[in-house]
Amino acid sequence: MDRIDFRSDTVTWPTPTMRTAMAQAPLGDDVYGEDPTVNELEALAAAKVGKEAGLFVASGTMGNLTAILTHATRGDEAIVGQDSHTYLWEAGGMATLGGIVPHPLPTDAFGRMELAQVKQSVRSDDPHLPHSRLILVENSYGDKNGYPIPPDYFANLRQIADQHNLRLHMDGARLFNAAVALGIPAAAITEHVDSVTFCLSKGLCAPVGSVLCGSAEFIRRARRTRKALGGGMRQAGVLAAAGLIALNEMTERLADDHRHAQQLAQGLAQIPGIIVAPDHIKTNIVYFQLEDAVALSAEDITQRLRTEANIWLGTNGPRGFRAVTHYWIQEANVTSLLEKLTHILAVK
Ligand SMILES: *Cc1c(COP(=O)(O)O)cnc(C)c1O
Repeated sequence: MDRIDFRSDTVTWPTPTMRTAMAQAPLGDDVYGEDPTVNELEALAAAKVGKEAGLFVASGTMGNLTAILTHATRGDEAIVGQDSHTYLWEAGGMATLGGIVPHPLPTDAFGRMELAQVKQSVRSDDPHLPHSRLILVENSYGDKNGYPIPPDYFANLRQIADQHNLRLHMDGARLFNAAVALGIPAAAITEHVDSVTFCLSKGLCAPVGSVLCGSAEFIRRARRTRKALGGGMRQAGVLAAAGLIALNEMTERLADDHRHAQQLAQGLAQIPGIIVAPDHIKTNIVYFQLEDAVALSAEDITQRLRTEANIWLGTNGPRGFRAVTHYWIQEANVTSLLEKLTHILAVK
């Protein structure tokens, strides 16, 4: 990489192995179901998450939207965490494009909605009310330091969903980060949900793409939704080839990213003026804050890091930061960031 970029794991470049595989991938027209590389990726993805079928989509947002529009229809309601990606960071797609009403609920420090509150939020069969149809969950939970939520929470939600005939969809953009951090197979996390989307980009380093997985019948219908959204791609095997490497070779190494994030959090905790909670950091996302006594703003600091050291860091409000570790961040880069921050904050 040409810079040290902590802003997100979305900035990752494909690996040299991926570029070679992309150039050599066998191709066909995927809308006809004839791209062998896409077909292989969809089958592998489904197997990894313990579902019958998969559907290659252009992005995580498209995967979530495709799932939501396939599970629910206009006037239906989706129970969703108020700081979740599907509610906050997907341009309101479920409402603008699907006529689906989000029902946002608060989440705890780890991204979990309270079970009793989820239960209470299910509507009665009253013509005044929207029709409860869907529960949306996220794992790892981006807004809460990428916290990896253990499967028992989803098992509990499954019970509620079954009692009220609701569908359960997981935004698993960083599903494999969660699986590696919990030390369990991804399928153990997705066992209780009807459908799941995960990203091949981000930490897994593919340049483009996500996969939506679920039952064969669900994916058959989702294929139609994807087409309606303009997501029927043709020789998409050039992209799926990188996705195959992402799934086959890049999931276990996410543990390195988690180690680097913990190294960063431990280091930040030693710097006067910074507030961070290393105990809450189990995967690759580190949120931290400036103490009130620090005169500089978050923006002042990110500017200096960029101009003086070519280190790019995300801000989170006027006093906060977000750092994300990934394949292109090494231990030495974490050390550089810590040294530079120590220096900037010491001078004041
Ligand atoms: C990145 C991300 C997505 C999908 O984002 P795209 O940029 O559309 O691929 C969905 N959910 C979460 C939690 C994410 O971090």
